[in-house]
Amino acid sequence: MKTLFNKPLTNKKTLPTSTAGSLPKPAWLAEPETLWSPWKLQGNELTEGKHDALRLSLQDQQHAGIDIVSDGEQTRQHFVTTFIEHLNGVDFEKRKTVKIRDRYEASVPTVVGPVSRQKSVFVEDAKFLRQQTKQPIKWALPGPMTMIDTLYDDHYKSREKLAWEFAKILNQEAKELEAAGVDIIQFDEPAFNVFFDEVNEWGIACLEKAIEGLKCETAVHICYGYGIKANTDWKKTLGSEWRQYEEAFPKLKKSNIDIISLECHNSHVPMELLELIRGKKVMVGAIDVATDTIETPEEVANTLRKALKFVDADKLYPCTNCGMAPLSRKVATAKLNALSAGAEIIRRELSASS
Ligand SMILES: [Zn+2]
Repeated sequence: MKTLFNKPLTNKKTLPTSTAGSLPKPAWLAEPETLWSPWKLQGNELTEGKHDALRLSLQDQQHAGIDIVSDGEQTRQHFVTTFIEHLNGVDFEKRKTVKIRDRYEASVPTVVGPVSRQKSVFVEDAKFLRQQTKQPIKWALPGPMTMIDTLYDDHYKSREKLAWEFAKILNQEAKELEAAGVDIIQFDEPAFNVFFDEVNEWGIACLEKAIEGLKCETAVHICYGYGIKANTDWKKTLGSEWRQYEEAFPKLKKSNIDIISLECHNSHVPMELLELIRGKKVMVGAIDVATDTIETPEEVANTLRKALKFVDADKLYPCTNCGMAPLSRKVATAKLNALSAGAEIIRRELSASS
């Protein structure tokens, strides 16, 4: 039986809350409210600073009553790039401009030879987080398809082949994270919302390769991106109903992935699409990360209530729509509090009606 921090899942709290992953960094560590923000410290001070920030981020989550905690991605500059930086075969000096997720142009590193991982990337950080708390912990890794979409490939010349190589590397990393005591390993795959044919042809197969042999729980996070302009502009072109999830859901339902993390709050995703993955656990995004407006607990509860029509209560995990790295710390903390309070409203309703 799969366990969350060695306790049977049946004993866990109803509607356990978590975040999609990233949280804002302190201003002494990196420029706030900026993606790819450069570090403000160097050498040993940077190493120590990252760990201090991780502890603060954990404490913010704990004070807000978040049940499944994370490192807030305090030790990484970017959710994809930082992982790739540690791999062989990618030249960060040789850059090409490509269109990321068919949406915005970015200067990206080049794959110049076979990709491989010499040593673990995040395992020491995960061990450090594990030492700080007995709560269940979740660790995010980039998904294979999202990784290849952030690179220029001058070696494999095949998106599928490169994704498969990354899946093997991610599997090595995931197994070490599991051994370090991580309860849920999450793969971030916003690219699943864009390249539908590839998702079904090989994207989900690569994801299953990445989780092969894991005994801890596994999740895939599929969203409409951070609240940056390129994403909010793209969202305006998607019309009044966002049915992108419909494309990947049938195959995801059949996959071995345990949890699917989705953007639901303030989005135009028709909630009934969740029916297509009934039986899976769903991290329901009930916090909008693209606005500084703080949700009221009742707004969070409303989104969860709608989701409960299609997700069984024991499989619903209230969450944020996406990472909160680009927000201010004050706004992010207030949003965490709203998430907890909203989940609590629904817990009370569920216990009153049972
Ligand atoms: Zn996201």
